[in-house]
Amino acid sequence: MAAAREAKKEIQELRVAMKKIEPFFEPMGKPEAYDWLGAHKETGQTFDEYLDSDPTKPTKERQKIYVLPLGKFTPQQTKIIAITAGYLVAFYDLRVEMLSNKTLPQKLEKKDARYNEFMRTRQVRTGFVMDTILKPMLREDAAALIAFTNEDLYPDDSMSFVFGQASMENRVGVWSLARLASQADYDKFLRRTLKIAAHETGHMFSMRHCTKYECVMSGTNHLAETDRRPIDACPECMAKICWLSDITAKERYKKLASFAKTKGLRLEAADFESKIKALN
Ligand SMILES: [Zn+2]
Ligand SMILES: [Zn+2]
Repeated sequence: MAAAREAKKEIQELRVAMKKIEPFFEPMGKPEAYDWLGAHKETGQTFDEYLDSDPTKPTKERQKIYVLPLGKFTPQQTKIIAITAGYLVAFYDLRVEMLSNKTLPQKLEKKDARYNEFMRTRQVRTGFVMDTILKPMLREDAAALIAFTNEDLYPDDSMSFVFGQASMENRVGVWSLARLASQADYDKFLRRTLKIAAHETGHMFSMRHCTKYECVMSGTNHLAETDRRPIDACPECMAKICWLSDITAKERYKKLASFAKTKGLRLEAADFESKIKALN
């Protein structure tokens, strides 16, 4: 199987592209105790390991990402969600459809929500959102259905919160804006949202956490860790995305550069442009 794979032109081209963009990325640093890798033992996932894992990828029939705003949002948040949907279009080369707002029930059963003393707010269990709200809404042509909410989220009693969670098997995911605006101006809030959206959607396409580079697919435990990560995927993860999206590295960076330019993300636009140059 591996030999047949190597014979494929697109895989060979991706390997060349990986080498060419490598200088743009930092190897993963030594984690502090409170960083994700300080708390979670993970071995990462190379491009080859990903290919070997028989990943879920968008099929011909499933070329659309559905985005569901879940709850009420400020005009700034609404704008950020719209830009994030556009980022996913460029990042995964898929179409995106915005669904009309839905609200979460005010009253939830004990097993599905809890009160967080520290945040002084209710937290909703991600499994409830995914199983009860999202799964029944999943359309046949959905590569993924992702929901944004303002509610704080938690996965189970072992953790105090999560930024978001996605189900690889079920093509659904939810993430929260509740903590992302903390000590952030508009630009920081936007970049955090872009990173989390790209990251969680990656999980939906069977991408595991990245441990090789500081990468948008690396796990994060807190916002400072999110902030220091790039909004882009490292060589290994870039190759996975190009493979699952069936696009060349250069075409993909062109889409990302033009997206970043139109949204005023100047640093990112320049970065994507440099990567296009490196690929020439
Ligand atoms: Zn993750
Ligand atoms: Zn990576």
